[in-house]
Amino acid sequence: MVLDDFKLDGKVAIVTGCNTGLGQAIAIGLAEAGAHIAGVARRDATETKEAIQALGRQFHLIRLDLLEPDAPRRIVQGAMEAFGQIDILVNNAGIIRRNDALEYTEEDWDAVMNTNLKVLFFLSQEVAKQFLRQGRGGKIINIASMLSFQGGIRIAAYTASKSGVLGITRILANEWAKYGINVNAIAPGYMETNNTLALRQDEKRNAEILSRIPAGRWGKPEDLKGAAVFLASAASNYVHGYAIAVDGGWLAR
Ligand code: NAD
Repeated sequence: MVLDDFKLDGKVAIVTGCNTGLGQAIAIGLAEAGAHIAGVARRDATETKEAIQALGRQFHLIRLDLLEPDAPRRIVQGAMEAFGQIDILVNNAGIIRRNDALEYTEEDWDAVMNTNLKVLFFLSQEVAKQFLRQGRGGKIINIASMLSFQGGIRIAAYTASKSGVLGITRILANEWAKYGINVNAIAPGYMETNNTLALRQDEKRNAEILSRIPAGRWGKPEDLKGAAVFLASAASNYVHGYAIAVDGGWLAR
């Protein structure tokens, strides 16, 4: 029955940036569908851990900075030691640095590109190798953005990185579909998290943004749960290299 296809009972999901914002909501959503969570964070993720354990699922924290050189290997090792298997990877962690293109620094460029794009690629590579060892495919979900489709303003490296995330999603889908690995993305619209605090506090930008969201409100992290469970589950087994926008209609405008 189709609703059974959405169940994640007994699956193990790695979620990066699981302590807050979209990553926290996605981790909880996957756990609500049955998955155990190997959460990656730089700091404690107590709130996420408690929410997941309250659902009767297990939570294991892999505490590290994704920019540390050996991070991808250590994440896979940590998840394997805790659970003995990996079924789902959610590449959620990301940063944004705002500045005019004329003033944009190399330091900001490198930080954003490394976090949002390089880490995402090499962690996907490491997890895909584990999927191949297990021999039963797997699911990779990349968190893209409206800036995977649009130019934006004052966020040159962010736009470059998120446009890159869409491209990487497609090429990895092309190369790994034959192994039963689904690589897809979720493109969130304008969501209420730390990432958008500066925008929401800017009265003018806030009003401009709200006025072009057909749904008439900012997104909430929980709005991503449905798309995440779909892409993590057997319900999406024939979906490869696609980005689902969860944006209140922003891109349709
Ligand atoms: P957030 O700032 O609340 O959370 C980002 C998470 O990434 C945090 O847990 C942070 O600790 C983690 N992180 C960043 N760099 C890290 C590193 N080097 N090592 C380990 N962890 C690291 O932001 P959010 O809005 O929840 O963003 C989550 C993802 O969604 C990001 O990729 C972001 O670009 C994307 N996104 C957000 C929005 C939005 O409107 N909020 C829209 C589109 C896409």
